[in-house]
Amino acid sequence: MKVEILGCASAFAKDSINSSVLLWLREDNAVLLDCGYNVFPKIMEKGYADKINTILLSHAHQDHCGSAVTLLEYRHNILKQKTFVGGINWEKLLKLCDGDNAHEMIIPLHDAVKVETIDVPHAKGMECKALFVEDTLLYSGDSAISLLDTPEAKQAKIIIHDVHLTGNAGHVSLAELSNAMLDIRAKTYLTHYLPKDYKTLSEKAKRLSFADVATEGMIIDIDDFNEAQFSNG
Ligand SMILES: [Zn+2]
Repeated sequence: MKVEILGCASAFAKDSINSSVLLWLREDNAVLLDCGYNVFPKIMEKGYADKINTILLSHAHQDHCGSAVTLLEYRHNILKQKTFVGGINWEKLLKLCDGDNAHEMIIPLHDAVKVETIDVPHAKGMECKALFVEDTLLYSGDSAISLLDTPEAKQAKIIIHDVHLTGNAGHVSLAELSNAMLDIRAKTYLTHYLPKDYKTLSEKAKRLSFADVATEGMIIDIDDFNEAQFSNG
């Protein structure tokens, strides 16, 4: 399995793709975690639309779900493919974006992909979930608390966690994330930041022994990654 970072930017970052991650289960089969307002054009550019048969959403902020229904429509209307969906409850989003026809485009997850969700605080009154996929990838979406002390973090082979340099109402601070155990930090990639913060974040992440700061286009081979961790002691 591989993880590909499609985007790593926070909501209002200029010329950068919204935080969005692909978990490649096979060469032709990927799970997409979040599909913000500028992610669909990126997927088309990369030629991935026919390979993403599952879309999971962490919450309905537009930088996380803004082009998800467009991807569903493209796969249904042009590629003639239905898509597994999960994460948050899609009912309202689908009804709002595509009326009564929306259900023809989707298949509930069932056993296609193993997904567990964890409720996280982020925006008051909004359904917000962290996603734990195939017992492998823990993805925080947007969270005001650290998920690095959960059983899922322990079990995960790789963690993609949102971060804010100093913390704010919706996002956990780097200082709070750095309270995690060393072995957890070593498999955690930080995401959802402003491009101007990259350098500072990267230096601090290195000093605090995080795996890295996620960057657009980064591909992490999960098996290699674990071997590397092992050989590094
Ligand atoms: Zn959000």
